[in-house]
Parts: sequence; structure tokens; C-alpha cells
Amino acid sequence: MLPDIRIGHGFDAHRFDTSASPPPLVLGGVVIPFEWSLKAHSDGDVVVHALCDALLGAAGKGDIGRHFPDSSADYAGIDSRILLRRVVDLLAVEGLAPSNADLTIVAQAPRLAPHIDAMRTCVAADLNLDPARVNVKATTTEKMGFTGRKEGIAAHAVVLLVSTSGTIPEA
Ligand SMILES: [Zn+2]
Repeated sequence: MLPDIRIGHGFDAHRFDTSASPPPLVLGGVVIPFEWSLKAHSDGDVVVHALCDALLGAAGKGDIGRHFPDSSADYAGIDSRILLRRVVDLLAVEGLAPSNADLTIVAQAPRLAPHIDAMRTCVAADLNLDPARVNVKATTTEKMGFTGRKEGIAAHAVVLLVSTSGTIPEA
């Protein structure tokens, strides 16, 4: 009997809103002081979106767009953490729980080092995990590509889910 563990990957990218008075920039559930935010139907939290996709991917449940379509007024400007918690609830119904998450933010600006711990705490709370099981890291692309030109921010997420029933059922 093999332990039932599932891996999932998520990727997301959003363009900067460089208008005069954009809404706040939110990454990993944390408001980051910066002159721009990210354009999106929701609050634009690219980190949480990548994480939702990784969770849904691991569970074989499609992607965030399928569950929370951006054509729906219900999700206009929504706090992405609400979506994340809904995804975690959806997986719980399937008998799946997150075991750990590793998140990578790709951004030339703003500087994210001072906010990493707050993001980790936020995301871990939504995943019902100890913060030690959630890793958040940020990198630049040394000014190469769309993130390097400060056109937007991208995020990658990898998660592991464990089955609360323990083992893979016989086919
Ligand atoms: Zn997104």
C-alpha cells in the first residue's frame, strides 16, 4: 500500500496597475506598500492565485478560473484569501489536506524581503498549517523579461497534499 500523497504546481502572473491611485498591492495576503498594485478581477494576489492552482492541480480539480470565473461579479475585487480558504474546504471534502507549500515570487520591485514572514504566517493560517510548513521566497530576474522590466509580478507554487484516509485505494 502506497501512502496517498499528491503534488501540485501553480503559476500566475499579473500586470502592474500604474494608474495614479491604484488599490493596494496584496501579495500572499499581505498589503505591501508600493506605488503600484496588480491589475485583476479580484484583488490581484498573484501568490495566492498560484497557490490555489497548485492545490486544485494536486487534487485533480482543474484551476482557479474554473471554480471562480472572472466573468462573475461575485469575485470582483474579492480578497483572494477567501478563495484560498474555499479551495482548502473543497479539498477537505475530498479527504485531502495540505502537507506543505513552497512559493516563489518573481518580482524586480518592490523589495519583498521585509514581508516574507508575514506572507508565510498568512498563507499558513489559511492552509491550517504550521508556518514552518510554508516557504515563501522572492527572486528577481536580473532585469530580464516582463518581471525584470517591472511590467508585473509572477508567482510559482508547489504543494503536497496528503489523503486523510492514508493510502491509495486499490484500483
Ligand atoms: Zn491571478
